[in-house]
Amino acid sequence: MRYYSTNGKAPFATLEKAVVKGLAEDKGLYMPEHIKQLPREFFDNIQDLTLQEIAYHVADCFFGEDVDAESLRKIVYDTLSFDIPLVKVGKEKGLKGEKGAIYSLELFHGPTLAFKDVGARFMARLLQYFINAKPSNNRCVNVLVATSGDTGSAVANGFLGVEGIHVYVLYPKGKVSPIQECQFTTLGQNITAIEVDGVFDDCQALVKNAFMDEELNAKMQLTSANSINVARFLPQSFYYFYAYAQLKRRENGRVVCCVPSGNFGNICSALFGKRMGLPISRFIAANNANDIFYNYLQTGRYEPKPSIQTIANAMDVGDPSNFARIIDLYGKSHEAICQDISGATYTDQQIAETMKSCLAETGYQLDPHGACGYRALREGLQEGEVGFFLETAHPAKFKQTVDSICGSDIAIPGRLQDFMKGTKQSVSTSKDYDEFKKILCPLP
Ligand SMILES: *Cc1c(COP(=O)(O)O)cnc(C)c1O
Repeated sequence: MRYYSTNGKAPFATLEKAVVKGLAEDKGLYMPEHIKQLPREFFDNIQDLTLQEIAYHVADCFFGEDVDAESLRKIVYDTLSFDIPLVKVGKEKGLKGEKGAIYSLELFHGPTLAFKDVGARFMARLLQYFINAKPSNNRCVNVLVATSGDTGSAVANGFLGVEGIHVYVLYPKGKVSPIQECQFTTLGQNITAIEVDGVFDDCQALVKNAFMDEELNAKMQLTSANSINVARFLPQSFYYFYAYAQLKRRENGRVVCCVPSGNFGNICSALFGKRMGLPISRFIAANNANDIFYNYLQTGRYEPKPSIQTIANAMDVGDPSNFARIIDLYGKSHEAICQDISGATYTDQQIAETMKSCLAETGYQLDPHGACGYRALREGLQEGEVGFFLETAHPAKFKQTVDSICGSDIAIPGRLQDFMKGTKQSVSTSKDYDEFKKILCPLP
């Protein structure tokens, strides 16, 4: 399969090049040239398949031409070594005023308790596959990743100890939760954490600058593990198919999917799923106060803004990278986008209210990101529809916030406690590119 750039000014790339380069030469994002349809029979029987079986079928559509079947199967099966259950939120007979049943797709059962484990684990294995395929190529691959919290931990853990790869995690000082921070600052080995005196967008800008820096690229082989990388965002489509399979066993009705969104990689993979034939009738993109996409839907104008800090911090993005992919997928048609996706935006106060009321009414503990998804779905669901929202992280990852809002004392899962026992190791920098560059490539 060939990959083209959303900016249309770079040559086609192979999968390997798209994965290793991350971003195209013209700063565009790579898109697969074709999106294969899955056959009808696949959807007729999907409820009888396991997560790994479903994921392999989907992976084969994207990567089957470039990765041999046995290796691809192993990559998929190793990546998805944990379940992604669909859990009903609410009472059997439904809540007061509820139009249709609501489910939570729990994406927090992986090693770092957030959905990004799926893409990060897949990408680490695919990159290793390409490195191993060329034993003569003994240059180290350097993965640069900017994080607003959860990406850093998922990528660092996905790549930890992988030979031939060094990971640099850039994160905004004081803007990720202490639990998130320890998941990538305590690992050591081939992981370097870089604490940037700035916001997430500054971290993202430093990464983008590094990729465009010819001098640096001549010295080091750089790649990105942000959701701009096709090896991270395409595998996220797997679990939308699995959610549908689980829902099909239990409900009838048109399916609505609600995605708490920041950089829009997650919802973008869902839109790819729909193109492949996944019967989801429409999507809701739930935003926190960073309402750039919401405003785009209302006005047709895309106006990036500096990000605002919220309690759903992994969605604090002022210029979502994957917007370019959504625009490309819909041939730049605002009308077509609005047919498939509607939006919602919530203040911190609304997020907090939602966490409290959901817990009181249903007993289900949301995290601040999932709360945006739950609320947007409850408010948006119509008669004849059933819906699921993505519970993108475990509430314990945001324990301080969640406990203070809900008056709870949520238990920290064992795998999270283990990270907290380590010692923080990180390198500090300002948001100045030259200062950052000296960390990557110290002057002789
Ligand atoms: C990354 C993240 C999001 C946003 O996902 P995007 O793909 O950037 O839209 C939402 N919730 C959590 C918990 C996250 O870590």
